[in-house]
Amino acid sequence: MTIYIDAHDCHYEVQRLCTMFLRGERAPLAFGAPGEGEERFLYTGRAERDGKALLTVRARLGGSEVHRQRELPLPSGKQECERAFGQMIYELLVPMTGIRPPWGILTGIRPVKLFRARLDAGESGQEVLRYFCDGLYLSEEKARLALQTAQVQRPILRGSAPDLFSLYVSIPFCPSRCRYCSFVSHSIEQAAGLIEPYLELLERELALTAQKARESSLRLHSVYFGGGTPTTLSAAQLDRLCAAVAENFDLGGVKEYTVEAGRPDTITAEKLAVLRKAGVDRISVNPQTLQDEVLAAAGRNHTAQQTLDAFGLARQAGFPCINMDLIAGLQGDTPQGFADTLERVIALRPQNITVHALSVKRSAALGGHAGEVLIASPAAEMVALSARLLIGAGYHPYYLYRQKDTVENLENTGWCLPGYESAYNIHIMDESQTILACGAGGVTKLCRPKGTGGQEITRIFNYKYPYEYISRFEQLCARKEAVVPFFAGMEKN
Ligand code: SF4
Repeated sequence: MTIYIDAHDCHYEVQRLCTMFLRGERAPLAFGAPGEGEERFLYTGRAERDGKALLTVRARLGGSEVHRQRELPLPSGKQECERAFGQMIYELLVPMTGIRPPWGILTGIRPVKLFRARLDAGESGQEVLRYFCDGLYLSEEKARLALQTAQVQRPILRGSAPDLFSLYVSIPFCPSRCRYCSFVSHSIEQAAGLIEPYLELLERELALTAQKARESSLRLHSVYFGGGTPTTLSAAQLDRLCAAVAENFDLGGVKEYTVEAGRPDTITAEKLAVLRKAGVDRISVNPQTLQDEVLAAAGRNHTAQQTLDAFGLARQAGFPCINMDLIAGLQGDTPQGFADTLERVIALRPQNITVHALSVKRSAALGGHAGEVLIASPAAEMVALSARLLIGAGYHPYYLYRQKDTVENLENTGWCLPGYESAYNIHIMDESQTILACGAGGVTKLCRPKGTGGQEITRIFNYKYPYEYISRFEQLCARKEAVVPFFAGMEKN
């Protein structure tokens, strides 16, 4: 299907929304109007008439053509135009395709921020629900999920301050590469020789970053080791890395210290002991699924029993908060299989359970089959089931985001037992706290309040791949020179 854009600048939103109805079909943009006899198109146009903006949507998907028009007062902003186009596209394409996107006309990755903004402006929960359900066509289920998430987040976000920051440490190595992986991670077989030089430079970057934090009078709030799979490193390497963090940063005020252990096949009692000794209090042990045949199809070289064993080790090691990640929509999984996984995971009572909807990016080994996977998936049923079971088991949602290329444009939701919310996860989605990132693929995000309200944000990107990180390390360090000037003159309260 071709999407026509005529005399407006809402093409990004229009295209994002249309693709939700197309399930893998490409939808190229064209400018102007469709030609005579064109069979599959969606036209969006703006004109001015009688002192008003007239927006038109016409759609033809092989059958007869349908259309809608709406007038907006002048001047009308981009947001109002996007919303009006979105409503008309939704009203036309739902009956034409039989697809009803559960997030309505919302296309952004951070829907919870929109909910919280309305709560902060003084609206009641009921008013917020009505705004999103009636005006933006969200399903009641998704609107309630986002509202509850926003309500859980509010006190945690209020507890932050502009001079607090999180430290992110990237370990972009994994024992093997999962077929659905959308991250830049290198399997150990490919990259074993890079690990030592990588760690040496990472220690140097930690020292440099700590110096910039001190010069900017920033205080460390949380530490997060992500990847990849940080526990791909040996116990001795983890020990060395944790020591580098402790030597360079003041851990006295740290509220959370998280390590994504992730793959159960990398977890040993020795590594867990090293992490506990260093003060790590949150760890992930990620089953993704407890169905062995689904794990094998996903290219994860471990069994469900290995996950259960690794979870037992983490419990024994005394981690106060353990997270378990699940993926809805993995190839070969069924709603029954997913329910079985979820029930067994809930029975373990991890403090956090994160449910991801499968995201298949082009970089994944699924490659050209991604479209088929997206179409065939029962992920929506699984995600709905997870919300029912987790709420029933006493968990509540505390962070949520959507990704492009996600099955059915579904959301990823972090659930937790009350009191075990990860402030790091909340802040990263809210974009309201500075993150100083070290390591390949790390993105430093500098945040400070703007005089006019809201946040001023600047990003510094590290090189993505370990070999680039190693070969261009000096250039990467030069980019961190932007940190101190950014915070110059910032008020602390
Ligand atoms: S463990 Fe995670 S980062 Fe590593 S290959 Fe699998 S999906 Fe990618």
